[in-house]
Parts: sequence; C-alpha cells; structure tokens
Amino acid sequence: MELICIQCPRGCAMNVEKKDGEVIVTGNFCPKGKEYAVSETIEPRRVVTSTVRGVNNARVPVKTDRAVKKTGIFDVMRRIKEAKVLKNVDIGDIIIENVDNEGANVVATAPYRV
Ligand code: SF4
Repeated sequence: MELICIQCPRGCAMNVEKKDGEVIVTGNFCPKGKEYAVSETIEPRRVVTSTVRGVNNARVPVKTDRAVKKTGIFDVMRRIKEAKVLKNVDIGDIIIENVDNEGANVVATAPYRV
C-alpha cells in the first residue's frame, strides 16, 4: 500500500507492507512517518470536527481533543448531534466528556455566548 505521510509538509511517499504480522515501512525520512504508517495500517484515527446545537439555532464549533478510532466516528457524530450547549463556553471547554469511551473529549473551538 502506498501512503503519503501527513505529519509534516515534506509529505514523504511511503510504501507499507504487512509481512509475518509486522508492518514494514519504506520511504519515510524520519521515525514519525513509520509511526503514522503503522497507526494507519493497524488502527487509523482521526480528529473529528463538527458543530453542536446552541440556543436559537446557533451552532457551536467543536472538535475532539485527540484522534478517535475511525471505526468509532459514527458513534462520536451521533453523540455530537444529540448534544446541546445551553450556557456560555470558551475555547477548550469540554462539551462532551469521554465521547469515545477511551478518554477523548469534545471541546469548543470558539467562544459561545447564550
Ligand atoms: S516521514 Fe518524517 S519527514 Fe517525512 S513527511 Fe513524515 S514526518 Fe515529515
């Protein structure tokens, strides 16, 4: 499998193979590339960005404070869709705690005033 490393602007083109249960990575300039390729191969994760309902149809921009499993993104989005912000929040305030049951929180990415 070919993969472009997105960990820095250099964008190394990597080749990733699974052999005898091991992930073999070539083309990476530094160890971060291998780490990224292994993660993408074994358990890809993403930071989720979205908005949560506020008062009077307002939307509060949010994101997960760390990457969540790609396979769990629909559950995270369902919880974001169900949530509503009823009070003032600032950047970084937790809107949904432990949204993925692995410790990731959904946090505000902009101030919101009711
Ligand atoms: S492998 Fe290292 S140098 Fe290459 S894009 Fe990834 S982080 Fe940058």
